[in-house]
Amino acid sequence: MRFGPLTRYLSSAWDMLFPRRCLVCGQTLSGGEEHVCGACLTTLPLTHLDSRSENAVVRLFYDIEGTQRGVAMLVYRHQNATFRLIHAMKYGDRPAVGVFLGEMMAHQFEPEGFFESVDALVPVPLSARKLRDRGFNQSEAIAQGIATVTGLPIRTDLVARTVDNPTQTNLSTQQRRENVAGIFSAADADTLRNVGNGSPLKEKGNRYPHFLLIDDVITTGATLHALAETLRAAAPCRLSYLSAALAGQHLNVFERGAE
Ligand SMILES: [Zn+2]
Repeated sequence: MRFGPLTRYLSSAWDMLFPRRCLVCGQTLSGGEEHVCGACLTTLPLTHLDSRSENAVVRLFYDIEGTQRGVAMLVYRHQNATFRLIHAMKYGDRPAVGVFLGEMMAHQFEPEGFFESVDALVPVPLSARKLRDRGFNQSEAIAQGIATVTGLPIRTDLVARTVDNPTQTNLSTQQRRENVAGIFSAADADTLRNVGNGSPLKEKGNRYPHFLLIDDVITTGATLHALAETLRAAAPCRLSYLSAALAGQHLNVFERGAE
């Protein structure tokens, strides 16, 4: 504790030399602010999706047996605030932004009961090569933020990515799904079935494990769809879907002034 004043002095001196800036508007952040200034934080473009009912996210996965819930927090459009946050995280080497987004989502959706009965958080894996290049998995960073608030375990051993995303430009939804089929491989059925063993909910008779798949941006949903199909083909399970952001075209029909 006796280093407190010195640490504070050094940190404010550091801030004067290298001011921390809001990732959305570029203004200098004040002491209590992290990543985003207060003004930008209150105007982030929320999807306003209700995680308890049918919505634009869960609808993408209705054809997958075992689908329970799905939601995304922010609207993603080219160059909007969400775009800048995600871009800074992925290409500016800022995994802490992912943790920040994960914590925000947990605080927003936990009161709606979104995490009830979930046995494990499963971030969308990167290929080994991509992970080496970027140094971290952005979906895993988001999952860490969710885990901090909810206490749920993160499982990165249940599914691996064997192929990088092939180019998806100019393909229809069906073509995109075919294009990404087989890019993931799941752990063996016993490993999957045993996830959540020992948790009171599972003992009460919800025999199938419930995986919450975590993504940073849902653009077409094809990647997350392929991941869900891979897990479902390996063992019976329940599946929910949570993404920090959702590409705006999914929301055009009923967007409520989100931007
Ligand atoms: Zn700002």
